[in-house]
Amino acid sequence: MAKIHVQAVRGMRDILPQDQKYWQFLEDNFLKTAKSAGFSRISFPIVEKASLFERTIGEETDIIEKEMYSLAPKTKEPSDRGKDKEKEEKETLVLRPEGTASVARAYIEHGMQTLPQPVQLYYTGPMFRHDRPQKGRQRQFHQLGLEIIGELDPILDAQLISLASRLIKKLKIRDFTVQINSIGCTKCRAKFIKKLQEYYKPILKNLCPDCRKRYSKNPLRLLDCKELACQEYKAGAPQMVDYLDQEDQAHFRQVLEYLDELEVPYELNTYLVRGLDYYTRTVFEIWPKMEEAEDPSRFALGGGGRYDDLISLFGGKPTPAIGFALGAESIIELLKEKEIKVASREIPDIFVVQLGELAKKKSLKLIEELREESFKVISALGKESIKSQLRLADKLKVPLALILGHKEVLDGTVIIRDMHGGMQETASAENVVDEIKKRLPRENF
Ligand code: AMP
Repeated sequence: MAKIHVQAVRGMRDILPQDQKYWQFLEDNFLKTAKSAGFSRISFPIVEKASLFERTIGEETDIIEKEMYSLAPKTKEPSDRGKDKEKEEKETLVLRPEGTASVARAYIEHGMQTLPQPVQLYYTGPMFRHDRPQKGRQRQFHQLGLEIIGELDPILDAQLISLASRLIKKLKIRDFTVQINSIGCTKCRAKFIKKLQEYYKPILKNLCPDCRKRYSKNPLRLLDCKELACQEYKAGAPQMVDYLDQEDQAHFRQVLEYLDELEVPYELNTYLVRGLDYYTRTVFEIWPKMEEAEDPSRFALGGGGRYDDLISLFGGKPTPAIGFALGAESIIELLKEKEIKVASREIPDIFVVQLGELAKKKSLKLIEELREESFKVISALGKESIKSQLRLADKLKVPLALILGHKEVLDGTVIIRDMHGGMQETASAENVVDEIKKRLPRENF
């Protein structure tokens, strides 16, 4: 038979066993942070209707225009399954590019307005964007997100930013900054966009091709262009903070005051816009600190903001909300780059070494008993020599080995070997599990 050449899809990666410790470390810390702040988990489908994202993220954004993975609707014979079902089958479906719109949909769909507000939800999982794969950009990547829905108070903006910043510190990342800006409400943003276009109109020909398109399609994004050619014009551009109405100004001022109170350092960044239509008022991102030549915004660890109008767009009553998502790959890349040590939970507790047919049989039972007690136990029952089994235990950094040979089986004993110090002692086979319990602290009982 001809061989099949298989390879992962471009921009989508396997996460191999040796990297799992980073994922575990990130998820453990995220879960602890989310739960300690009263968030509950929500999971939502990977596939959603395209329309969910088109109106909310915005038709003119890169995500919608260029990066959606769409699944064409099935072309089917007209069915007798009712008009609604037929209509649904004709809808274009997409792989979710982000989590906020789905969470907002679920909030409405499941009547969460009737719960005590705010509703605080967290999620983790893969997202899909058909971007050009490059450092920091994959087509399948993972996000860990927090959403607080149903409360307008600026103290929530500050609390969420503080939570995000504390989480990054827990991940042992020290060199980062919180970038923050306010893009105001839709009304004052419209005024600002007009001013921005007035400013850029006469210099349009000097801008990069993308910015020339952004000028009419998504003018706010003119401010976060990374092209060198466009940088010098940004400096003279009008700034959103000057166009905030009184309420937006007061909101933003309070967010910053609360952040000062919480001692969360931040940098005001008037060019930060986030680019998606559903954002209102506070927007923020967490950037790693980088060498001069590199642009930290390309490697943002996460970002978020308020989306006070999103829920009402779905027909719900006006419901303010704020959210944030961390990019798992960006964080893990940084942990590796900075050589940050992450404890591996994959190391087994015990290696059972056996010699001879009788011992091999007895060790099966011993392994089961230890696993029943939730120890992580491994063995190499296919290997014959004690030396090679101990060598393997050593290589895998297992702290304890239990050795069972023909003599031990006949005596009803087991040898316990401390793999770090090399000390050995003999325990009775009956008591060995209790002996191990004394020596190894166990998690998750
Ligand atoms: P966003 O809301 O689009 O700014 O995404 C939040 C975070 O997710 C970013 O700061 C990145 O760390 C991460 N992220 C977004 N898009 C990608 C991608 N295509 N590949 C890898 N990570 C991404």
